[in-house]
Amino acid sequence: MTILAIESSCDDSSAAVIINGKVCSNIVASQAIHTKWGGVVPELASRAHQQHIVPVVAEALDKAKITKNDLNAIAFTRGPGLLGSLLVGTSFAKALAMGLNIPLIDVHHMQAHVLAHFIDEPKPNFPFLCLTVSGGHTQIVFVRSALEMEVIGETQDDAVGEAFDKTAKLLNLPYPGGPLIDKYAKEGNPDRFPFPTVEMPGLNYSFSGIKTAFLYFLQKETKQNPNFVEENLADICASMQATLIKILLQKLKKASKQYKIKEVAIAGGVSANSGLRTEIQKMGEAENWNVYIPAFQYCTDNAGMIAMAAHFKAEKGEFCSQEVSPMPRMAW
Ligand code: ATP
Ligand code: FE
Repeated sequence: MTILAIESSCDDSSAAVIINGKVCSNIVASQAIHTKWGGVVPELASRAHQQHIVPVVAEALDKAKITKNDLNAIAFTRGPGLLGSLLVGTSFAKALAMGLNIPLIDVHHMQAHVLAHFIDEPKPNFPFLCLTVSGGHTQIVFVRSALEMEVIGETQDDAVGEAFDKTAKLLNLPYPGGPLIDKYAKEGNPDRFPFPTVEMPGLNYSFSGIKTAFLYFLQKETKQNPNFVEENLADICASMQATLIKILLQKLKKASKQYKIKEVAIAGGVSANSGLRTEIQKMGEAENWNVYIPAFQYCTDNAGMIAMAAHFKAEKGEFCSQEVSPMPRMAW
């Protein structure tokens, strides 16, 4: 089975080819246009997808050394995501599938982030827990099988990726700020500034309080010293990153105990964070977990993960009709 997968849920246009469960190409075109606006501008994202989609698909087919006539199905991200962005990928996938007279496979973007773990070895054993941390989501997912997943805890307000990006914005760092916080944190002291955390019930998270606390902290410090940020950038980034990671891992540990599961994975854009990667390994050693961390190219948005999810759906004969439309708030 040879499947072409398309990802266009936010600001990365991506295409991948999977042949009998093996990802053979994964091309990502990121959209630099948003940097100057300090965040993703939905209308600009849709236009950029429109420009990128044909070359990205052509490159994915080329790299996999196939032509469109070798394809058995077309997969696409149906949601969640930005409507205008999703429409570009969905319409392209539908048109190509219709032209080639082959079936369509609709994929849930967050399930695909989790299934990125099945692209390379080592693969987690079922059931496992996946901390799914990205620009729009922060969830602990109980993964029974490739297509049976349940969210057992999630943020009640902001996603942790947003907390990284908003922290960066307040520090005058360009969008997306998460990777820059990561970079500066490497040189800093994580214990220098203690930031307050809120205890949430059960396995849920909250990141809006810490964002506000951080804003007040910066206002207070810069009033006393206008050069506070420049002089302390590394320590500020390290302290904030350490606090966010501590919040994430505390609940993950609780979930592991509650569900008696020691197979633990992370996924989504924030799983590229080097501090989180190190700390989850450490916790895994202390708690006797088997920890699974995706390769960098499969952390942030990519069509490789959509292709992997599509492979599992195709195995079960789960195709969708040509009447399908995108779902910006698609449920699990
Ligand atoms: P969602 O998957 O929830 O729909 P999205 O697709 O926009 O959101 P991803 O591409 O999965 O998000 O992840 C992007 C997020 O990951 C951004 O918030 C970005 O700052 C964050 N991120 C990427 N690399 C790092 C890093 N090294 N450290 C911290 N955050 C990071
Ligand atoms: Fe994503």
